[in-house]
Amino acid sequence: LRWTQTLADEGLGLLSYPEPHGSADPGSFVAAFAMIGHHDLSLLTKFGVQFGLFGGSIARLGSARHHDEYLAAVGSLALPGCFAMTETGHGSNVRDLETVAVYDEATDEFVVTTPTDLARKDYIGNAAVHGRLAVVFTRLVVGDTDHGVHAILVPIRDEDGTVLPGITIEDNSEKGGLNGVDNGRIWFEEVRVPRGALLDRFASVDEHGEYDSDIPNPDRRFFTMIGTLVGGRISVGAAAVSVAKSALTIAVRYAHRRRQFGPARGFESLLIEYPIHRQELIPRLAATYAYHFAFEELIDAYVDPGGDQRRLEAEAAGLKAYATWHALDTIQAAREACGGQGYLAVNRLTAMRADADVFTTYEGDNKVLTQLMAKALLTEFRQQFESMNATGVARYLFHRAASALTEASPVTMSTTDSSQVSSASWQIEQLRWREAHLVESLAQRIKRRIEAGTEPAEAFIEVQTHAATAAAGHVERVTLEAFASAVGRIDDEAARRSLDKLRALHGLSTIQADLGWFQEHGRMSGASSRVIRKTHESLVREVADESLALVNAFAIPEQVLAAPIAASQ
Ligand SMILES: Cc1cc2nc3c(=O)[nH]c(=O)nc-3n(C[C@H](O)[C@H](O)[C@H](O)COP(=O)(O)OP(=O)(O)OC[C@H]3O[C@@H](n4cnc5c(N)ncnc54)[C@H](O)[C@@H]3O)c2cc1C
Repeated sequence: LRWTQTLADEGLGLLSYPEPHGSADPGSFVAAFAMIGHHDLSLLTKFGVQFGLFGGSIARLGSARHHDEYLAAVGSLALPGCFAMTETGHGSNVRDLETVAVYDEATDEFVVTTPTDLARKDYIGNAAVHGRLAVVFTRLVVGDTDHGVHAILVPIRDEDGTVLPGITIEDNSEKGGLNGVDNGRIWFEEVRVPRGALLDRFASVDEHGEYDSDIPNPDRRFFTMIGTLVGGRISVGAAAVSVAKSALTIAVRYAHRRRQFGPARGFESLLIEYPIHRQELIPRLAATYAYHFAFEELIDAYVDPGGDQRRLEAEAAGLKAYATWHALDTIQAAREACGGQGYLAVNRLTAMRADADVFTTYEGDNKVLTQLMAKALLTEFRQQFESMNATGVARYLFHRAASALTEASPVTMSTTDSSQVSSASWQIEQLRWREAHLVESLAQRIKRRIEAGTEPAEAFIEVQTHAATAAAGHVERVTLEAFASAVGRIDDEAARRSLDKLRALHGLSTIQADLGWFQEHGRMSGASSRVIRKTHESLVREVADESLALVNAFAIPEQVLAAPIAASQ
């Protein structure tokens, strides 16, 4: 809490709030969040809960009245609060939350209740000790109608920190990490709040008990509300990239100074000189750069007021999932690459591993997010098809026939040219082809099931694993394209050459990881697989020579990186 206060005193809490209360600069907020990701992840989470989730939901779901009353106090941390969405019984499936707020016309209040023990709010950051006000996600019942999940402000402690009547709070106790955050459970027993406590940007209730919303469809309204909170997902993904950068900076610097074995006593080799050591670190370094550029594009889309919101939500879901998985995988590789030193707490990797673990669960469970991403891909696919006129459809079918031909004759499409497999255009073409194939076959599988009488929702569940593969294919393609276009924007010749090598390595790692699929679909011959593997190996060697410069380019301040084994000499 004290560290969070220091950041609030610097004005960082107010960055994303609308004027005049804040600087209306959500891009800078994400940048600040990503930078804190190099430091302590409990601080990161506490910062994110207070200013991003709690304050952000007041800013995006509330109206001017709520902004005037709360944002300055939230952004300065004078008013610590919670974002109370998850319940023990409902985590990923937020639409079916059970907490209920019933409008009482006699007193012009909402009465908030936890109807069953499974409906208690759970894992809520800032709940166990510090929070005084909570944004509570609850069903809204007016008269006889349940209008679905809405957000409402409920005080939980007074100014002295005493828990208010009707509220019960329990500490979640020790967690697998992030123990600097006071996560807790909350129960509400007929807690009364004034009608104005409803965050009413998308729906309101007037003094006669009339419910009104510009979005009449409850599902659409709910997803619109939730969609405005996409910044949290983007921030966690961007912070995961920072964690991967920190872990790699530690491990790569160590690999450039630690010696083991060698041809003669006293002449031991550096770890970075060993191929199997490089193999663990260097492709992950390339992937980390790739995610860095992918998030740059995502953040640009987030701050673009004219952007496509649905698309942004889908891209954020996919990139958050794969970047957080990448971060965890990288921390473990870095930990092992530092041997016993990596296991010492002072070198930070074990805390990083424990704390970043939950990045794959909060702000949306990763596997659930892959399904969200896949659904968006299907929608785009359908729209593309529907918007085609007869010529478009004919052209499409011709293209499909040509692809089928390609599948039948792998040798013509396979290459054994190492410079070709390293080129951005060839790599992107492979990933586009795979993505198109995966999305189209996903659509076909669903269509077949629906035609056989399966309900659409059930049909989608039956093809979940295929959907996750299609989502991965999309994220990998988008990430490689972001990398390639970032390289294209670099003026400095030497830097461009170096990063292009890194891009080539990342593209080949991605294709190599799925060589079985490419071969299965007739896209690669055995000969081209061998070229890919050889080229990959030699790129790993070349990039390893530049790897110290590449991690130093992350420019993580020494006092933030702090691991003694990685201190600059
Ligand atoms: C440290 C921490 C801090 C948190 N902070 C907050 C907070 O401040 N505020 C807040 O509101 N929440 C918070 N959460 C809650 C968090 O957002 C949820 O834990 C998360 O949304 C997942 O929900 P769940 O735990 O119920 O898991 P579940 O949804 O039960 O998921 C469990 C498993 O089931 C799988 N699964 C679920 N649905 C499907 C499906 N349809 N198809 C296939 N597989 C599926 C998932 O992939 C996962 O592997 C926090 C959690 C933790 C651990």
